[in-house]
Amino acid sequence: MARTQREDIQERAQDGGIVTALLAWSLERGQIDGAVVSAVGEDDPPCFPSPKVVTSYEEIRASAGSWYTYCPNNLALESVKERDLKKVAFVGVPCQITPLRKMELIDPSYPLSHKKRPQHIEKQRGFLRGYQDRVAFQIGLFCTEVFTPELMTEKIEGEMGIPLSEVSKFNVKGEVLIYKKNGDIETLPLQEAMENYQRPECGHCGDFSAELADIACGGIGTRGWTIVILRTQKGVDIWNEFEKEGLLETKPIQENRRAWNILQILSRRQRNRVPELGPRSGTAAGLPQYSAREEADFSAAAMEGSSKTAEEMEECLATAYQDEDRPAEVIGYMAGSPIPGDPGDPPPGEKRKLPPPPTPEQGGAPPGWAPAENPA
Ligand SMILES: Cc1cc2nc3c(=O)[nH]c(=O)nc-3n(C[C@H](O)[C@H](O)[C@H](O)COP(=O)(O)OP(=O)(O)OC[C@H]3O[C@@H](n4cnc5c(N)ncnc54)[C@H](O)[C@@H]3O)c2cc1C
Repeated sequence: MARTQREDIQERAQDGGIVTALLAWSLERGQIDGAVVSAVGEDDPPCFPSPKVVTSYEEIRASAGSWYTYCPNNLALESVKERDLKKVAFVGVPCQITPLRKMELIDPSYPLSHKKRPQHIEKQRGFLRGYQDRVAFQIGLFCTEVFTPELMTEKIEGEMGIPLSEVSKFNVKGEVLIYKKNGDIETLPLQEAMENYQRPECGHCGDFSAELADIACGGIGTRGWTIVILRTQKGVDIWNEFEKEGLLETKPIQENRRAWNILQILSRRQRNRVPELGPRSGTAAGLPQYSAREEADFSAAAMEGSSKTAEEMEECLATAYQDEDRPAEVIGYMAGSPIPGDPGDPPPGEKRKLPPPPTPEQGGAPPGWAPAENPA
C-alpha cells in the first residue's frame, strides 16, 4: 500500500494519489511525454469524464480522482498518434488494459498472405500494434463495475436532487459516497446502484484487479492509501525508481489483512463471473489457450503456394516482425482459471480459506520486514 506525500496531489486524489503521483514523476523525469487518462474537462458535462491526453503537470493533477461512468480511454490513443507522442503512460480499468496487452502480444504475422506485399503488411502491422507501440507502461485500476449515465441523471440528480454541477467527487467504500462542493457527503447504497445502474457489459467481466497491467492500483479496504500490485518486470523497475525518488510512503499489505482478503474475494468472485464459452474464447477452463506459435505457423503457411520467392517471403516476415523475436510460446490467459495459491472450494459446511498475504520474498513486504507484535 502506498500514498503520495505530495499534498497538491493528495488533496485531489481518489485514494493514496499514487496513480497521479506516478504519472507526474514519470513526466518530470522525461520517461513519458504524456499520459492517457479520464478527466472531466471544461467542455464535458459535470460528472461525465472523457478520454484525455495530458502532457503537463497541471493537466495530470487535474485528472486525479475516479469517475464511475464509462470513459473509453483507448480512443485517446488516436490523439497520441496524431500528436506524435512517442511514449505515454496509459491509465484505465481492466477492460481497457486487456485490449492494449492483446495488441502487444498478438502475433504480428497475422496480415501475411500469399498476395500482400511488404508495404501492405507494414501498414496493417501499424493497425495491429501501432497504438501499443507508443505506450511506455500501463496503470490498471481495480474495478467491479462502471455505472450507466442514468445513475447520474436519474438517480443522483433526479431522485436525490443533487445537481451534478455541485458534485466534486465520488468514491465507493461499501456504499457510494457523493462528495459535494459545499463539503457535505451524501450516500447511496451500493447494492441499489449495482442492481439498477451497473453497465450490463460489466456483468461478464472476469478481471477485478487489472491482471494484465504493468502496475495495478485500487483502494479496497483502505482510506487514503492505494493498494499497488506490481505485475510485470517493467512495473517493478519503474516502481523501484519511483519509490526511491517519488516522495511516497509505503506499508506492506501484510499490515492490512482486511484489504488483502477483500482483494482475494473480489478477484475470485469476478473470475467466476465469466461465462464459459467455446475453446477459442479464452474463457474455457482447462482447454488450450491462444497460441502465438500456432498463429505464426498458420500465417506463414498462408504465403505458401504463392508466386513469392523465398527472399520475398522472408522480407514479408521481417516486415511483420521487425525487431521482435518470432513467437515460441502459448500465452496463458487468466479468464476462467483459478487464482494461483487459492485453496479452492471448501468441503460442504466449512468456511472458505483465503490464501495468506504474500510473504516478503513474494513481494508482499520489504525484505526483512517483520509483523508488529500487536498489529492494529
Ligand atoms: C470506474 C472505476 C471503478 C473502480 N472500482 C474500484 C473497485 O471496485 N475497487 C477498488 O479498490 N478500486 C476501484 N477503482 C480504483 C480506485 O477508484 C482508484 O482509481 C485507485 O485506488 C487509485 O487511486 P489513486 O488515488 O492512486 O488514483 P488517482 O491518483 O486519484 O488517479 C485516478 C486515475 O483514475 C483515472 N480515471 C478516473 N475515472 C476513470 C474512468 N471512469 N475510467 C478510467 N480511468 C479513470 C484518472 O484518469 C486518474 O488517472 C475504480 C476506479 C474506476 C475509475
